[in-house]
Amino acid sequence: MHSRDQHDPVALSLVSSHATSEGTVTYLRCECGVWEIRTVRFVALAGKVAG
Ligand SMILES: [Zn+2]
Repeated sequence: MHSRDQHDPVALSLVSSHATSEGTVTYLRCECGVWEIRTVRFVALAGKVAG
């Protein structure tokens, strides 16, 4: 068992991800059984791609 607030990145596995208006929502599951949902905004990727 480990801290419920911090999970080992190595123990996290990517389950699914999908794009929303907020950014890319990524679902991760730790080997301890806890799900972690992260939202990654687009800024790091392409910035503004305004037409
Ligand atoms: Zn964990």
